[in-house]
Amino acid sequence: MELISNAPQNQTIGDNLVRAWSKINSTQYKKIVCSISGGSDSDVMLDICTKCDKDNKIEYVWFDTGLEYQATKDHLRYLEDKYEVEIKEYKAIKPIPLTCKQYGQPFISKHVSEMIRRLQKYHFKFEDRDFDELYSEYPKCKSALEWWCNKKKSPAFNIKQNKWLKEFLIKNPPTFQISNLCCKYAKKDVAHKLLSENDYDLQIVGVRKAEGGVRSTAYKSCFDKNGSGYDNYRPLFWYKDIDKIEYDEHYNIIHSKCYSEYGFKRTGCACCPFGRDFEEELIAVEKYEPKLFVAVNNIFGDSYEYTRKYKEFYKGMDKKKKEINK
Ligand code: SF4
Repeated sequence: MELISNAPQNQTIGDNLVRAWSKINSTQYKKIVCSISGGSDSDVMLDICTKCDKDNKIEYVWFDTGLEYQATKDHLRYLEDKYEVEIKEYKAIKPIPLTCKQYGQPFISKHVSEMIRRLQKYHFKFEDRDFDELYSEYPKCKSALEWWCNKKKSPAFNIKQNKWLKEFLIKNPPTFQISNLCCKYAKKDVAHKLLSENDYDLQIVGVRKAEGGVRSTAYKSCFDKNGSGYDNYRPLFWYKDIDKIEYDEHYNIIHSKCYSEYGFKRTGCACCPFGRDFEEELIAVEKYEPKLFVAVNNIFGDSYEYTRKYKEFYKGMDKKKKEINK
């Protein structure tokens, strides 16, 4: 097959091209959806899909969260021209700016934001008290109180997973609303809606095992059957960073300016406070997309300030602890 004879001498790339070809061209699948983000993994995935999709069964979609880099939007147009495909845009059920205004801003991570949101809903005072006492005072808030009191079975779901966070919140209770609902309304629910309203039988996404985090650890392999009607395929699942680099060089893949000019390691919603590198992102955005810089500061300003305060507190506590242990 020409596809394989032209491929680089790399087992991961070769094996996965064969698998992609057989999945995409399987007679089992009549209608396939592939979600494009404009990020570098998504670029490789799109290249693989367009190389394999001989019957044009794949529909490409992009979820517009309402807080996107202009560089990402420009890159999507470039991809449409390059591959002569349409990347259909789906708007957020509620755009991020509106969700943050109505429900609160994201802080640290999805889980932390969700737990704080629940506590704030019941006017919790962020006190260091025993679980039973707190539970009798806030009976509708069990799960979040278990997080707060480190009672969850899995350590990943307890507050001590984030060092000094409990101490920080006790000393500095949040004075603004915190929430992770922008992820729900701008991403999760939009994808669910699209899948439930269309009769796709295969969904293709660009998750890689090596990217780490909740997204990749949720899966064991590149493919799974979904009882609710469509299967899931992740063509890049086994790619390590080195395979991606080799693929890029071999097939001359050009990524968005977010990488080549702004210097980002990854892309997503503009300057999301969850991002470890949001300060670097802010510096780049101020330089390259000044209007977006003003927007993100309006939307996430409280969370940026609070995160900075937490980081300072964290450093101070670590220092204090070291001095005590001397
Ligand atoms: S990634 Fe960040 S900004 Fe984007 S929807 Fe989720 S919390 Fe909101």
